[in-house]
Amino acid sequence: RAIVRDIDMLEEKNPSIKPQPTPEVDPTIFEKRFLRKIRDLGEGHYGKVELCRYDPRGDRTGELVAVKSLKPENREEQSTNLSREIDILKALYHQNIVKYKGICQEEGGQAVKLIMEYLPLGSLKEYLPRNKGKTSLSTLLSYCIQISKGMEYLGSRNYIHRDLAARNVLLENEGIVKIGDFGLTKSLKDNDGYYTVKDDVDSPVFWYAPECLTLCKFYLASDVWSFGVTMYELLTYCDSSKSPMTCFLDMIGRTHGQMTIIRLVKVLQEGKRLPRPENCPEPVYELMRRCWEQTPEMRITFKDLVTKLTTMLQ
Ligand code: ADP
Ligand code: MG
Repeated sequence: RAIVRDIDMLEEKNPSIKPQPTPEVDPTIFEKRFLRKIRDLGEGHYGKVELCRYDPRGDRTGELVAVKSLKPENREEQSTNLSREIDILKALYHQNIVKYKGICQEEGGQAVKLIMEYLPLGSLKEYLPRNKGKTSLSTLLSYCIQISKGMEYLGSRNYIHRDLAARNVLLENEGIVKIGDFGLTKSLKDNDGYYTVKDDVDSPVFWYAPECLTLCKFYLASDVWSFGVTMYELLTYCDSSKSPMTCFLDMIGRTHGQMTIIRLVKVLQEGKRLPRPENCPEPVYELMRRCWEQTPEMRITFKDLVTKLTTMLQ
């Protein structure tokens, strides 16, 4: 008490030592002038992702972040999509989902960028072919469990991902994976348990369930189908000569555009599926097949996938 009074007196005598009110800083707003690009990390249909250092002190001690923006040619038409992706990611908290850090607003405030944590090992699509030797079957199964857990959480929040694939799963380190890229994610809230697409020309068709291809309907169970395809990719170590696209094109013949979808639907209808990857144990392949049941209601759930995969790993 006496000390406080002394300080008060000191301040009265010497107003300059009064603690300055610190301006409210929002740590999720990144200033463009402090964001230094280091290199490109990758790009997809409409966006690109860059590695940057956020360096307000200008001495290269700032943290590394991954920055997603729209390609210039897509700025206008896709900006609401990126804003939606930002809003979705901002509200997701799970150990197997990439962490949202904030946004960076362009001058004028039109073009916005998404700032995420940087995951140095990149996506499974890039990592697995190069690290086959040190990635055992049990590591692959552990990745499958983690992806299922992330997806179970996403589903519990009533979101469907719609773009689950090895290219969209990132590695934190050799043991931990996270789902990234929520660019096609949709909320089921205002829908009847499914989401209908109207305007998707270049959808990842070889990862899509029959109901997505024929009716443009997406259920939580449609993500389970894509998970099965992702599991297949993992078990082939993302070998491009065995990729889902290569395999399905071998089955249906090289066709173009709408014809590809029509033939793909036909072979799936006939019960044809991706083959069992080399060295993939029969019970693991059996789980993939349970993701690829023709009718959505018949498919295994992410919850059961977690249980079954965990038992297999023991
Ligand atoms: P798009 O929506 O354009 O497909 P993604 O979010 O999938 O964009 O990112 C494209 C690629 O950039 C990914 O496949 C991955 O290689 C890389 N990437 C994305 N986010 C990160 C991140 N947080 N850390 C490291 N690499 C990333
Ligand atoms: Mg992507």
